[in-house]
Amino acid sequence: MEYSKKIGSITIFQNEPIDNYIARWFEEAIRINSRIFNIHLKKRIRVYSCSNYSEIYKHAKVFHKWSTASVEKNKMVFRTVNWIEKIGKFTKKDVKKIIIHEFNHIFWLQKYPLTKPNWLVEGFASYIAKDSQLKLPKQQLKKLIKDYNIKDARYLNYRFLRRNYKSDYPCYPL
Ligand SMILES: [Zn+2]
Repeated sequence: MEYSKKIGSITIFQNEPIDNYIARWFEEAIRINSRIFNIHLKKRIRVYSCSNYSEIYKHAKVFHKWSTASVEKNKMVFRTVNWIEKIGKFTKKDVKKIIIHEFNHIFWLQKYPLTKPNWLVEGFASYIAKDSQLKLPKQQLKKLIKDYNIKDARYLNYRFLRRNYKSDYPCYPL
């Protein structure tokens, strides 16, 4: 990629000039998660900020159309802020939270050899990123469990929920 920027122990690659505010969001995401997990990043993390799908598939093993970012052990692939804004599901402000969320996964992978249960890993990342979209009052949760007849912990897997419930379903109920 044409541009790169080193920020502490990460390097961002992008085919457009990299704005300073993005660098600051990454710094903050690392600081927050480093404090929570009480560890430092062991290896340099490469962040590929992609402007289109051909760039994404060059760098990511798996990347779903509904994803904004994907994380492997020492690598993060994500859409550029411009692309995210164009899609319209998230605003520029949300991108900062997404970065905190994704770095939570990176730190998690460095500390624990597990990526499951999904509801815990995703729920924790969302909680730390203060994703208010995903907060759910207890009463609402109870109603949801009743309405959808949820009996199986499998249903708490957010990808499963996304695939099966088309409405604006809360992805991380617990
Ligand atoms: Zn996640």
